[in-house]
Amino acid sequence: MISDVINSKDIQKIAPVFGQPSFDNHEQVVFCNDKDTGLKAIIGIHSTVLGPALGGTRMWQYNSEWEALNDVLRLSRGMSFKAAITGLNLGGGKAVIIGDAKTQKTPELMKRFGEFVHSLSGNYITAEDVGMETADMDLVREVTPYVTGISESKGGAGNPSPITAYGVFMGMKAAAKYKFGSEVLEDKVVYVQGIGHVGESLVEHLVDEGANVFIADINEERLDEVSKKYGVNIYNGDDIYSEEMDIYSPCALGATVNDETIFKINAKVIAGAANNQLENEQKHGKILQERNIAYAPDFLINAGGIINVYAELENYDRKEIMRKTENIYNTTLEIFKKANQSNLTTHHAALAIAEQRIATRKLENSK
Ligand code: NAD
Repeated sequence: MISDVINSKDIQKIAPVFGQPSFDNHEQVVFCNDKDTGLKAIIGIHSTVLGPALGGTRMWQYNSEWEALNDVLRLSRGMSFKAAITGLNLGGGKAVIIGDAKTQKTPELMKRFGEFVHSLSGNYITAEDVGMETADMDLVREVTPYVTGISESKGGAGNPSPITAYGVFMGMKAAAKYKFGSEVLEDKVVYVQGIGHVGESLVEHLVDEGANVFIADINEERLDEVSKKYGVNIYNGDDIYSEEMDIYSPCALGATVNDETIFKINAKVIAGAANNQLENEQKHGKILQERNIAYAPDFLINAGGIINVYAELENYDRKEIMRKTENIYNTTLEIFKKANQSNLTTHHAALAIAEQRIATRKLENSK
């Protein structure tokens, strides 16, 4: 088992050689390699100022280790701000496992990954993300207590995705209230891109509300399944961004709002679950603002999952989880108003609140 810890200065030195990874003074980045199980993973700890760095593990077939590093740096940074704006005493961390979750994930690999998590002594606490199931977290739990999102039968709070979806739904309603004057989504044309754990649950809420839902995914079986189950339309075209819609809901991977898509996007609102939707926060946030597209910051509205897994650490109940998740509606609406009053992008307005909370705690901790 080899664990390499790269410190901040090293990343700053090597970054220009390969292009810019999203390094932002992360506290620790750990490379995990294990030949026996084929595990190749990276754990990113962005900040532990507010508490242990909690964030899910993503298993994905990255094109290169550099791409995986970039992803884990961006994702772990986002987790710091998500916890901060949600008022949780958690820092920001995330892990990525390089590989195909369908064919390369084995119990041995998951347990070995758990051992690496354990070696960080609770500075990093994991959970599920793309490519992971509750059962995988149960395996990790066999070797370390530093894991959340485990099965209810094993004392956990279960799969966080339905709570994430509920929070996204709340954030979407707040964005609709701001943009259309009403939070009711009936008859609104909503495109959900990515109908995995979160996307499917979001589709259910939207259908219950009477929205006109279109779904897109690279997995055709899922499209058929979800379309039949909820009676929603399948989007088969190759340019979802140009389609006229009220709400675009990115629920697959990040960075779908980028140089190629941003001027094509034909939606009035963007509100989805995916982390890091803006490829470049400043540039793309600003263009959305100029184009009068109401963007609900991802790290704010997709916080339901972290609220749910945090409950495993703090022992609060379902009612409290739902209350905190529902409150995403109020916070999102406040952010839209604050951004409008201060002529800031919504992303910037939300980030400023999160950064302020971290800075205040840092000062308190140093006293
Ligand atoms: P998932 O793996 O269950 O689902 C992702 C879906 O996106 C899959 O169906 C996949 O086929 C599809 N997909 C991948 N690439 C696509 C593409 N290019 N176009 C269309 N579809 C594509 O993941 P999930 O748990 O539902 O998470 C979805 C997103 O929400 C991720 O970005 C994740 O980081 C974020 N998120 C999830 C949670 C949670 O509680 N699960 C919490 C916060 C944020």
